[in-house]
Amino acid sequence: MTVRRRTKIVATLGPATNSVDVIDAIIEAGVDVVRLNFSHGEASEKLALAELVRNRARAYGRQVGVLVDLQGPKIRISRFKDDKIILEENATFVLDAELDSDAGDQNHVGIDYKSLPYDVKRGDTLLLDDGRIVLWVNEVDNLRVICRVIVGGELSNNKGINRQGGGLSAAALTDKDKQDIVTAAKMQADYIAVSFPRSAADIDYARKLLRDAGGYGGIIAKIERAEALDVLDEIIIASDAVMVARGDLGVEVGDAALPPLQKNIIQHARHLNRVVITATQMMESMISNAIPTRAEVFDVANAVLDGTDAVMLSGETAVGKYPVKVIEAVDRICLQAEQQREIRVSRHRVDQQFQRMDEAIAMAAMYLANHLDVKAIAALTETGSTPLWMSRISSGIPIFGLTPHSETRRKMTLYRGVYPVSFTVAHNDHATLNLEAVDELKRRGVVRDGDIVIITKGDLEVQGSTNAMKLVRVGDMVEPKNLGKSCE
Ligand code: PGA
Ligand code: MN
Repeated sequence: MTVRRRTKIVATLGPATNSVDVIDAIIEAGVDVVRLNFSHGEASEKLALAELVRNRARAYGRQVGVLVDLQGPKIRISRFKDDKIILEENATFVLDAELDSDAGDQNHVGIDYKSLPYDVKRGDTLLLDDGRIVLWVNEVDNLRVICRVIVGGELSNNKGINRQGGGLSAAALTDKDKQDIVTAAKMQADYIAVSFPRSAADIDYARKLLRDAGGYGGIIAKIERAEALDVLDEIIIASDAVMVARGDLGVEVGDAALPPLQKNIIQHARHLNRVVITATQMMESMISNAIPTRAEVFDVANAVLDGTDAVMLSGETAVGKYPVKVIEAVDRICLQAEQQREIRVSRHRVDQQFQRMDEAIAMAAMYLANHLDVKAIAALTETGSTPLWMSRISSGIPIFGLTPHSETRRKMTLYRGVYPVSFTVAHNDHATLNLEAVDELKRRGVVRDGDIVIITKGDLEVQGSTNAMKLVRVGDMVEPKNLGKSCE
């Protein structure tokens, strides 16, 4: 039987994936979620793309989630007359909120974010173009931020600005983001990622806008501002998933602070029953090379060992030369990393009380699965909560989320070790239902006669609320005939 990859792969779509053939190839290579980056392109084009991906996934009998990534208030410089300049060390350079947006030159450049002069003061360090250029604020003169160049180099149009240590006050949702949330609702996006959230309130607000627009998707908080770290648990609890957004976060906190932060964010997210994505530059060199560097192989494997639900590819699939090869590489690295024993055992919440009955069943099922030779778990689910709880426990046992709802199936595409299965509950009789669930797994080649399977489910008369767990041996199951309604 084939070993399934547990860690999920999120791939950003872009010019490099702009054909049905490439979309087909990345689905075949195993992409679980596609990311539509709303920093580029038009809404109409994104709507068409989401539909295309879903149609092609259906043709392959696969579930592929759609993640809308909002642009957010990325703070940028405007443009130069000649598109770029070279900054020399120690030169004076002015960020000027009053300068025309195309009028930049060697001495100064405009800024899109007009409040910047109010947010910075003498002594601050500003990082441009992901930290490649470093400016020291010498003086703020009305709407002009007068800087000295600490690290120079080439600076071109529309590059981002971060302040070291964080603290720029731009609101997380721009007017464009609010419009894009409406688009996300229209396409029934499975996840919406909020860029640069500062607080749980930013996440709550995005969720309200999405629900008001009729969207059902989960909200992802991108952890990419230094101040988000001060309220990390609150942001995690407000979200369905978080992203370790190593690009912007690394600029604000410094690159060396990232590795422990990644481990910490992953641990907190899992502990609080939330999903976590590790993002940015995981396979950066594969934008132009057909194989990853050894360091990148280790980065992906280490994220798996840290417990991430998913690894994300950005430029690697959006603009790279090898969008399919990079997914194949991530696939094989994850599969092998997942064989390491220490991530197949769990000490998750051994000393805790559980709040809910369904949660307790999920935990009990995992305890059993980790202590008996169980081949698979079949979780009959409405909302996906039970498989989510189960997947917070480290284990090597596949969790099949059986559900009639396509929204729930697509949401589960992000959960580590959870495989969405379309399953209609056609029976009120528990014994028949058990048989049907196991038959479904048998048909998929997941289990065979003699294997032990755990089934979890709720009362059939009411929807939701898993409250039962059943252990069955495939092939030995009681024929349901003449049993009447069972009362397990
Ligand atoms: P971005 O977010 O790719 O949208 O900038 C991820 C990150 O900052 O790492
Ligand atoms: Mn970012």
